[in-house]
Amino acid sequence: MLKQFYALGTILQFQVDGENGEKAIAEAMDTIRNIEEKMSVFINDSEISRVNRNAGGLPQKVSASTYFVMKKALEYSYLSHGAFDPTIRPVVSLWGFGSGKNLVPPNTEIQERLLLVNYKDIILDEKKRTIKLRLKNQALDAGGIAKGFAADQVKKVFQKYQIPSAIINLGGNIFVLGKENGESLWGVGIQNPYGQRDEFVGAIRVANKSIVTSGNYERYFISNGKRFHHIIDPRTGYPSENGVISTTTIADYSIDTDALSTCTYVMGLAEGMKLIETLDNVDAIFITNRKEIYVTSGIKENFVLTNKKFTYVNTRIGA
Ligand code: AMP
Ligand code: MG
Repeated sequence: MLKQFYALGTILQFQVDGENGEKAIAEAMDTIRNIEEKMSVFINDSEISRVNRNAGGLPQKVSASTYFVMKKALEYSYLSHGAFDPTIRPVVSLWGFGSGKNLVPPNTEIQERLLLVNYKDIILDEKKRTIKLRLKNQALDAGGIAKGFAADQVKKVFQKYQIPSAIINLGGNIFVLGKENGESLWGVGIQNPYGQRDEFVGAIRVANKSIVTSGNYERYFISNGKRFHHIIDPRTGYPSENGVISTTTIADYSIDTDALSTCTYVMGLAEGMKLIETLDNVDAIFITNRKEIYVTSGIKENFVLTNKKFTYVNTRIGA
């Protein structure tokens, strides 16, 4: 059965086999709403909003889920030397993606807000399970990682209900569970960044994996003919521009792939490739604005190019 919902600021799609499907999907939606209530910056009494309101003040006690997500977010901030930075919120809100503002903010304001962006100002206390931001007006944004956490939780629910196979799709944040029609692997299409939704450049064949893409086509506006998208380079305060327009990461847990797709997007091709090659059981696909596709060594055998307007560059970068 196939069901669609709107939550987490995007369209969620569950394709589920098995007799418990209905019950499993209902519980999955409860789980997702619960995560949204805790972590959304658009909900005033969410835990993340409470941490943000108390920036520069007292540490805030949070749930185990929110603590885990922020701890992971911080790990990826260090791993990417700040390409991923959950304190990017003051800059993201200035750009106002999704608010319909569609205006490029004045550079002086961007620079002012950038002074507040620094993942090293996130203070976690594991024993007390508290989070605190060092400076007033600093703010957290879980938007680059929370959907990944949610996908992993949905997978757990489906496993509890012994769902034999399913596709969990949280706005392009995909988890394939079990096997497709008894075949050994699922085919998952990789979005063409220049195409319509569900127009693919190629596909990978995987099982029981999370596949997450960060792309410049997901949330953006055009101003004076130029595209401004929602993945911000914390070094500049502007949408990340390094030639990469889409990164897809593939791994066992979606919290990792979600964070890593955002990380590698900002890091760019050479640095991003290098990072992924150092991680076990993680792979990536990079698409550049020159319509070139690069994949890491672990999935060379599994990637098939289907769109001949793109070039599959079969050499390893940064090795
Ligand atoms: P994603 O679509 O997973 O790549 O995440 C993009 C979302 O994460 C944006 O909508 C922002 O809420 C947030 N974000 C933007 N830039 C960054 C960044 N450099 N590090 C962490 N989160 C970011
Ligand atoms: Mg992400």
